[in-house]
Order: sequence, then C-alpha cells, then structure tokens
Amino acid sequence: MSEATPARPSPEELDAFRTEVRAWLKDNKPEPPDFQLPDSFMEVGTPEQFEYLRAWQHKVYEAGYIGLTWPKEYGGGGLHGLYQGVVNREMGAANVPFMVNIIGLMWAGPVILQLGTHAQKQRYIQKILSAEEIWCQGFSEPGNGSDLGNAQTTAVRDGDEWVLNGTKIWTSLGTEAKHMILLARTDPGAPSKYKGLTFFLAPVDIPGVHKTPIQKMTGEYGFNETRFEDARIPGDSILGREGEGWSVAMATLMFERGAAEGQAGGLSMVPLRVDDVVQLARECKRDGRPAIEDPEVRAELVRFVMEERALGLCQVRQRIPGLVTERPHAIMMMNKLVGTEFRRRLARFAISLQGANGVLYMGDPDAPDGGHWQRNYMNAFSATIGGGTSQIQKNILGERVLGLAKSY
Ligand SMILES: Cc1cc2nc3c(=O)[nH]c(=O)nc-3n(C[C@H](O)[C@H](O)[C@H](O)COP(=O)(O)OP(=O)(O)OC[C@H]3O[C@@H](n4cnc5c(N)ncnc54)[C@H](O)[C@@H]3O)c2cc1C
Repeated sequence: MSEATPARPSPEELDAFRTEVRAWLKDNKPEPPDFQLPDSFMEVGTPEQFEYLRAWQHKVYEAGYIGLTWPKEYGGGGLHGLYQGVVNREMGAANVPFMVNIIGLMWAGPVILQLGTHAQKQRYIQKILSAEEIWCQGFSEPGNGSDLGNAQTTAVRDGDEWVLNGTKIWTSLGTEAKHMILLARTDPGAPSKYKGLTFFLAPVDIPGVHKTPIQKMTGEYGFNETRFEDARIPGDSILGREGEGWSVAMATLMFERGAAEGQAGGLSMVPLRVDDVVQLARECKRDGRPAIEDPEVRAELVRFVMEERALGLCQVRQRIPGLVTERPHAIMMMNKLVGTEFRRRLARFAISLQGANGVLYMGDPDAPDGGHWQRNYMNAFSATIGGGTSQIQKNILGERVLGLAKSY
C-alpha cells in the first residue's frame, strides 16, 4: 500500500465517527428477508441469499464503511485502521448481515494490494469492495488439501494466454465468482514441488470452466468442484512472478488465517457469543428448572466467558508490535486455532443444553430456535478446516513457534 501512513485519529474523532456509524446502521440495517440467511459466506447457496447479501455489501460500500484502510486511489478510504475497527464492532453490536465477497475483501484484495501491479489494483480492488465482482479461491484439489504445495492443476503458456487443466474443490462462492485466486503448476520439472507453482488471478466465468455445486452436511450448498478443461486465461493474469506462486499463496494464507491488518473489514459470519448461550441456558430446562441454575452449567459458562475474553485480548495482542516482532504470525496462528475450536465447542455446549430436543434440526417444528444452533454447530467445523485444519495449525505452531521436531 503505497500511500503515506494515515493519521491516527484522536479519541474525540473516533467517538464522533462511532456516533455517525451507529446512526447509519440503525437507519440502514436491512429488513430480515422472508427466507433463511446462511451462517457465513461459505454457505451462500441460493440466488436470493446471494442477491440480498450482495445488495447489503454494496450499500455498506456506498456509505464508505468497508475498505476504510485501503488506498483511496483504488476505491478505499485511505484512513487509519482504528476507523475500520469501530465499524466492525458497531456492525457486530447491531447484528447486521455479513459481507458476501469475503474472499475478495479478506484474502484476494489484501494480497493484490500487497503484491499486485498498479494496473491489477486498478482493475480489481474497487469492484471487490462494491461486490460487483465476486472472488473465490482455487487452492484445494481432490488429492491435495493440506498438502497445498502438491497442487496438480496445470497452466501451460500458449502465445498470449495460459491454458488451464485440472480440478479444484471446496470452492466457496464458486457459483457466483467472476475471478479466482488460483495456484497452478507451470513447471512440472522444477527441482522442488514448491518452485513449479504460479499464482493466478483467473477469470472463472469463461468457457472451459465447469462448476458443480457440493451439498454440505447441513443440507446447504455454498461450495463447488471447479473443473478446468483447456480454459484459456490472459497471459498477464499472474500475481507476483512465474514460478513464485508458493510465496504468494503463503502471503494469502496469512490473510486467511487472520492477518487482520490489510483486510477490508465488515463481518464475515453471524457471530456466536457466549451471551447468546447464557440466554439459551435461561430458556432451556433441566430437571424442570432453568438450565442456568445448574451449578455445572454455570461453571461451564464461566469458563466460556473467560475464554471469550482471553480471545478478545489476544486479538489486541496480535497488533502490539513488541509482541509480534520476533515471530510475526505466532499469535495470529494461535488465535485461528483456538478461536475456531472455541466456536465449535461453544455451539456443541449450546446443543447439550437442549436435552433430547438437541437432536432436532431445521424444518422440525419442535427444534429449539428453529434448529439454528444445530446448523451453527455443523457449520462451525468449516473454519476449523478451511485455511489449514486445526492439526496443520498445531504442526506449524509446534515446529515454527515452539521449535519442536518436524512431523512427517
Ligand atoms: C466449508 C469449507 C470451505 C472451504 N472453502 C475453500 C475454498 O474456497 N477454496 C479452497 O481452495 N479450499 C477450500 N476449503 C478446503 C480446505 O482448505 C481443505 O479442506 C483443507 O485445507 C484440508 O484439506 P483436505 O480436505 O484435502 O483434507 P486432508 O488434507 O486430506 O486432511 C484430512 C485429515 O488429515 C489431517 N492431516 C493432513 N495432513 C496432516 C499432517 N501433516 N499432520 C497432521 N494431520 C494431518 C487433517 O488435519 C485432516 O484432519 C474449504 C473447506 C471447507 C470445510
């Protein structure tokens, strides 16, 4: 990001901004639709869900409340990160819908701003913010998920174009996407598997790209298998340099795993808070009494409250230079691991409060809160897998942060 570092706002300026944002959200929060919204951008499975969420992101963009830290010349706000922090917190408190173009806002956009050419930034960034062009991510393949460096999709140069062949899988937002951040093998003979990879900003609304939706265990859709059969993309679609795709992919993964500095902001999912579970514990009965009166339930809730608080503080620690200079990604990686597992455990605990009704799901008239908690629990696995599974995060933390012996 080439522009000069923006000025840090005074507390008074931030207070005034908070008041403005709060008022805007109150006046502009969209009416709940007459259909079920998904829990996150990963489960957007119907055109009506997509259009509702896209319209919301567009409205937020027009108001100037996402991309606040991104350079002005590419459609951002050019402001200090504290402003975006205010917006994010106010959005969470107001329970507004999440942004739909999350892969663009959180991973593709930041990595293009970090490593792209001026022309690439001009071409892509503003349309990411406005949700005019949706992005997806083509990293995982049927045989290569955790082992990302083993990607087998090929890109072969032919004149002014690259010709793509291969299959990507679990492509979130693949149906709606116009572009994909894509890792492909351009030099199968390279001395190391990592050296033969190149990172592309690939159009995926072109001939030769076949998208097949995949259903999730919740019954929802939201990701695809994406097959490339002689799909031809422009020769200048590379981000970074040919053969250096691995380092671009690693930079992208750092954003995916939570390197919040650089991300555009906005909510990415329906938040799950301990407060909501406390409320549920008041409503659910255990031996005829509110579950919250059970000492074991209360003790468990207190543990969750402490963990939630600790996670919140760790988000702050992640931004304190003195704590991250030596190992820049250590706290962020820990937060990804602990935060996603925390959410999954919290959702499971919420279901355990419901007793026998806990087995009921959406569509069942007796399901507590319409089966919302059950869907939330199943979807909570997504973040423990995407962006590197919990086991992979543990390996990385063990080897690169704690200095333990490498696993094979
Ligand atoms: C909801 C959702 C959305 C997704 N969206 C996208 C997307 O948009 N784009 C995209 O490219 N991908 C996406 N993914 C894919 C995701 O990144 C992969 O599923 C993930 O990286 C794991 O790869 P895999 O499924 O091939 O599992 P595998 O790599 O086959 O792993 C299977 C199991 O083995 C364990 N394992 C593997 N290697 C090791 C090791 N070295 N040490 C210890 N344990 C190991 C894993 O932890 C896991 O439990 C998404 C996944 C989900 C669930």
